[in-house]
Amino acid sequence: MLSIWERTVFMAEPHVAVVGAGITGLFTALHHKRRYPGHRVVVLERGPHPIGASVKNAGFACFGSPSEILADVEAEGAEAAVARVQERWLGLRELRTELGDERIGFEATGGHEVFMEDDALYTKVADRFDELNRLLHPVFGHPAYQWLNRSKSDMGLRAGPIARTDLEGPIDGGALMRALLEKAREAGVDVRFGQPVSAVEEDGSGVVLRMSHDLAPVRAARVVIATNGFANELIPGIDVRPARGQVLLTSPVPGLRLKGTFHAHEGYYYFRDHRGCVLLGGGRHLDKAGETTTEDAVTPLIQDALERMLREVIIPGADFTIEHRWSGVMGFRTKGKTALVERVSPRVVVAAGLSGMGVAIGVRVAHKAAGLLVE
Ligand SMILES: Cc1cc2nc3c(=O)[nH]c(=O)nc-3n(C[C@H](O)[C@H](O)[C@H](O)COP(=O)(O)OP(=O)(O)OC[C@H]3O[C@@H](n4cnc5c(N)ncnc54)[C@H](O)[C@@H]3O)c2cc1C
Repeated sequence: MLSIWERTVFMAEPHVAVVGAGITGLFTALHHKRRYPGHRVVVLERGPHPIGASVKNAGFACFGSPSEILADVEAEGAEAAVARVQERWLGLRELRTELGDERIGFEATGGHEVFMEDDALYTKVADRFDELNRLLHPVFGHPAYQWLNRSKSDMGLRAGPIARTDLEGPIDGGALMRALLEKAREAGVDVRFGQPVSAVEEDGSGVVLRMSHDLAPVRAARVVIATNGFANELIPGIDVRPARGQVLLTSPVPGLRLKGTFHAHEGYYYFRDHRGCVLLGGGRHLDKAGETTTEDAVTPLIQDALERMLREVIIPGADFTIEHRWSGVMGFRTKGKTALVERVSPRVVVAAGLSGMGVAIGVRVAHKAAGLLVE
C-alpha cells in the first residue's frame, strides 16, 4: 500500500533509467540530468556500491603507450590512431575538470613504457619515435614522449630503455568514483544500489526492467544499459565480451623509487606506486580464453607471473609480501577498440565495451549515450 508521497516521489516512473553505476552509467545520468533538469533520472546498480571495473582498475589516467599507438597506426592508419589518442586525452581532461585533480587523487608523476633488455619492440618503437611525436603534435601541441635519462632518474627497475610522457599519472579509483557519485546525486540523479536487473522488456510506451530476488520491476520511458563487460547478459548478441584483469598490491617496499604509471610487454603488464607499495596488474595474454569470463577470481597462473615480474623487473632484490589481490571485468569488442554506443531498440541505448580504457573515455562515451537518448 503506497502513499501518495511514495507514489509521486520514490515510485514515480523515471524518464530515464540507467543500468550500471560505473563511470559510464553515472556520467550518462549526469549529462542527461543537466540537459533536462526536470527529468527523473535513476541509476540502478546491483552492488551495494559501484562494483564494476570502475572500482577494480589500477588507477591509471593514461592515453596509451608508444608501442600501442604505433601498433594502432599500423593496423588502422594514422588518422584513426591519432583520433583515438585525442578522444582519450579529451576524456581525461574532461574527467579531471569535472571532478578536480585533488578529489580524484591525480598525481602528475608521468606515464612510462618500459622495454626489456634486447627487446625487439624497443627497436621498432625507437625507429619511429620521432614520427610518433610528429603524428601526435596536433593533439598535444608539443612532443608527447621523450626517452628517460636513466642516470638522472633511476627508478630501480631491472629493464632497458624507458619512454616517458609528463602528461599521464596515477589516480585514486575509489576517490574518483566517490566524487562522481556525489556529483551525480548533487545534480539530482537518484542512484539506487542493490538493484540487480535481470531482463529488459520494451513495449510500445516504455521499458520494463525486471529485477532479481523478487524486487519490484522498474518502468522507465527510456533506458541506457551501461553494464560494460556484463552487457551481453541483458542484451544478448551484442559485440561485447568480458575480459577479466587481475591485480595485486605489495606491502610497503622500503626505499621504493618507482613514481608514476608504467606499461611493459606491449601493455600486458601495468604497474604504479601507491602509498609506498607497488600495484601491478595484467598477464591476461597468458590465458586469454580463461580470462574471457565474468567470474570474480584470481588464478595462480597469472598471479605467479605478476609476482615474477615484481621480483625480476620492478623491485628486484626488495623485501615485500603480497598484501592484496583482486580482479575486475572489462568489456572488449571482438573487432577494434571502439566502444559500442548505439540504440538497440527504439527506447534502449547500450554504452559498453570500453576496451580497458574507460577511465579515459568513460565521460565521452557517456556524452554519446546521453545524446542518443534524445535523438
Ligand atoms: C584491472 C583493470 C585495469 C584497467 N586499467 C585501465 C586503464 O589503465 N585506463 C583506463 O582508462 N581504463 C582502465 N580499465 C578499464 C576501466 O576501468 C573501465 O573501462 C571502466 O571502468 C568501465 O566503466 P563502465 O562504467 O563502463 O563499467 P563498470 O565500471 O564495469 O560498471 C558497470 C556496472 O554495471 C553493474 N551491473 C552489471 N550488471 C548489472 C545488472 N544486471 N543490474 C544492475 N547493475 C549491473 C556492475 O555492478 C557495475 O558496477 C581497467 C579495468 C580493469 C578491470
